[in-house]
Amino acid sequence: MLSRRSFQRLLAQSALSLPLGRVLGAAGQRPNLIIILADDLGYGDLGCYGHPTIRTPHLDRMAAEGVRFTQFYAAAAVCSPSRAALLAGRLPIRTGVNQVLSPWSTGGIQKQEITIAEALRPTGYATACIGKWHLGHLPQYLPTRHGFDRYFGIPYSNDMSRATAGNPQFIKQLNQHPEVPGTPLMRDEKVVETEPDQRRLTARYTEEAIRFLRDSVRSGKPFFLYLPHTFPHVPLFASERFRGKSARGLYGDVVEELDWSVGEIRRTLAELGVEKNTLVTFTSDNGPWLIKKQEGGSAGLLREGKGSTWEGGMREPFIACWPGRIPPGVVTQSFGTTMDLFPTCLKLAGVEMPRDREFDGVDLSPVLLENKPGREAFLFYYLGANLRAVRHGPWKLHLASNSPATGDGVTRYDRPPLYNLLEDPSEKYDLSDSHPDVVRDLLQLIEEHKRTLKPGPPQV
Ligand code: MG
Repeated sequence: MLSRRSFQRLLAQSALSLPLGRVLGAAGQRPNLIIILADDLGYGDLGCYGHPTIRTPHLDRMAAEGVRFTQFYAAAAVCSPSRAALLAGRLPIRTGVNQVLSPWSTGGIQKQEITIAEALRPTGYATACIGKWHLGHLPQYLPTRHGFDRYFGIPYSNDMSRATAGNPQFIKQLNQHPEVPGTPLMRDEKVVETEPDQRRLTARYTEEAIRFLRDSVRSGKPFFLYLPHTFPHVPLFASERFRGKSARGLYGDVVEELDWSVGEIRRTLAELGVEKNTLVTFTSDNGPWLIKKQEGGSAGLLREGKGSTWEGGMREPFIACWPGRIPPGVVTQSFGTTMDLFPTCLKLAGVEMPRDREFDGVDLSPVLLENKPGREAFLFYYLGANLRAVRHGPWKLHLASNSPATGDGVTRYDRPPLYNLLEDPSEKYDLSDSHPDVVRDLLQLIEEHKRTLKPGPPQV
């Protein structure tokens, strides 16, 4: 066991050698941090968010023992950009990861980006990424090159091989790339299986995560676990124990198994005696894939889903729990985004924010720990490299929109529609005629953003 003094000295040394940020004081124990990310889970898919037939007792309990957000956003409406933004704390456009990466992509998360893991590891954190990465599958982009001690999982979506792709257009593209292998399951930087049995994936990710928790506690290091699940992205698979059990059908089975996984993680934390020193968060990377019909989820009362900048594409469940630190049973209307997780994790770990770049996230700890109202809502909604909408306070203005669920392509508005999201979360009633001043202000915000934006190199 280190004495407190030598622990502080160690921290100070690591801070000196730290190129990214400084450890701000070493008082008290540094918290463990867990981010659990579902894939394509909608705002309306959990029991505690109103789903009538999907049972999520573990997430419901986590919300009851912690805080649940009703105005929390992913930073994009599709996988790769959303994940880049979460890990780097910046809008996808700044990272250059604007679009979904394919198994033949040569791009990925750039070396100059700093992930949460990269910021925490030099200050003494053990770090692991378990699950779907989707920020580039070539060696230079893998989690192990971006701050994670360990990686286990499928590096992109589970529908991106000849055996699993359901989309004829995607299969056509795949056929132009004969070099693309079957779905790889990787450990660190090695492919350990091809086309793994997807029915076992959620359970295997959970086992790996639990092993990492045990190893970290044994080592005495604080830990950061990033657990981006493969599901409920299609094709859907649940283990035998869950298959056929949910009234919602296979989609419900899959979500109920993810809920079980959350329960196992929290049970392990309690068993290891670190529950009171661990922040656990749960959210999703983008809204439900509505064109998949019964195999896609629900955005609840929100309009549209995955691939759209209407609210259903980006507003997500967000639940955070930390017994003894986060007051129980809070349902907050405070605004938050996945980009806030970077500054929040660094703040809680006592690590100084890098000062050489622009961040779009804000530290959420006052909302989490003290139930404070937090900042005013403010978000730019991008689809690809195109700015589609902006939210400021209650107001959201659309420059353009698309509706994949109804097959409607892109509409660019000459007269941008304006919605009040507090009064009209379903975006039904255009108020632009009665609020020209708000429209003008929001257009000005957009102009200013465009003028000062430095986009990252586009990744394809
Ligand atoms: Mg996704």
